[in-house]
Amino acid sequence: MSDRDTRHKASMQKLKARVDEKVANATEQRGLIIVNTGNGKGKTTAAWGTVTRALGYGYRVGVVQFIKGLWECGERNRLEDDPNLDIAIMATGFTWDTQNRAADTQACKEVWEDAARMLADPEVYLVVLDEITYMLKFGYLDIDTVREALKNRPREQTVIVTGRNAHRDIVAMADTVTDMQEVRHAFSDGIQARRGIDF
Ligand code: ATP
Ligand code: MG
Repeated sequence: MSDRDTRHKASMQKLKARVDEKVANATEQRGLIIVNTGNGKGKTTAAWGTVTRALGYGYRVGVVQFIKGLWECGERNRLEDDPNLDIAIMATGFTWDTQNRAADTQACKEVWEDAARMLADPEVYLVVLDEITYMLKFGYLDIDTVREALKNRPREQTVIVTGRNAHRDIVAMADTVTDMQEVRHAFSDGIQARRGIDF
């Protein structure tokens, strides 16, 4: 064996030992709280990717779309007929379009009822709370309500929270937090959001 091959083999053996140890340490089985936050693109895309993954095993999934429910959404078009998928959308446009705090709060409270139902249902394996961070930021929903619902959810249920500026209490509760960092976004160069790529 060449020097390089010998070194490679030794380093792979070390790596394998480290990975095996981590695998052996991961013994707990339960649902997770996952937060996709940050300014970079991909928070909602990654959530829908996980929805597809769970549906692929026949699990029941709930998706709640806060604020952008009335927007077009390719994943929703593709997956909404799946009998294992339950989608609830907030019945109002973007908050800076409506500019009506009372109406937005009402619409948010209504769709939260759906979220609360999903978060209490042990048959639902995965719940996505898309863009819910803004509901907390604008004060349409209170943090205690959300925290309690997350804390009391069924043990096997995973919840994905998406949106910028995730509330620190949600981040503190979460098992996996990804802060998507914007290096560049086409939009800043005047390129329009693309159908089937951005939505
Ligand atoms: P996506 O839905 O593409 O995964 P996201 O959920 O991370 O994006 P949002 O702020 O919810 O981010 O994005 C809503 C829309 O804005 C999407 O069309 C997305 O492609 C676009 N977008 C995402 N990040 C940025 C950014 N940094 N600057 C401009 N537009 C963005
Ligand atoms: Mg998003």
